[in-house]
Amino acid sequence: MCTAKCRSNCRDNSSDADRQRLFVEFYDLDPEAQQSLLTACFEAYKPLVTMRTTDKHRQLSFKNFVTVGDRKIRVCEKALQALYQVSRGRLNGIAERMRQGTADTPSRQGKHKNRPNKTPGA
Ligand SMILES: [Zn+2]
Repeated sequence: MCTAKCRSNCRDNSSDADRQRLFVEFYDLDPEAQQSLLTACFEAYKPLVTMRTTDKHRQLSFKNFVTVGDRKIRVCEKALQALYQVSRGRLNGIAERMRQGTADTPSRQGKHKNRPNKTPGA
């Protein structure tokens, strides 16, 4: 999926079976559900250290996770693309909408609403 040098150790964190399962489950979904699943893979965080270029680039960063069973696995963006066979542009679109705060995922289906609350005081 991603390179062996990846800092997230994506490959070590998930088995072939895990990846296969993620892919199959994803493609079972309708496009709207796929979209909210992908959105749920993004977790926004504010970088703790502000870069030298200050407010101009005060944008949210994202961590990516996938959920296998009840395990939440940190993956990098490359791995996320590979896992779900989605384009970088599609993922960027999701990140962009989250930045703008307009990513409210369709709330009709409660299936994937098992995310814990954000850690307090972060
Ligand atoms: Zn990776």
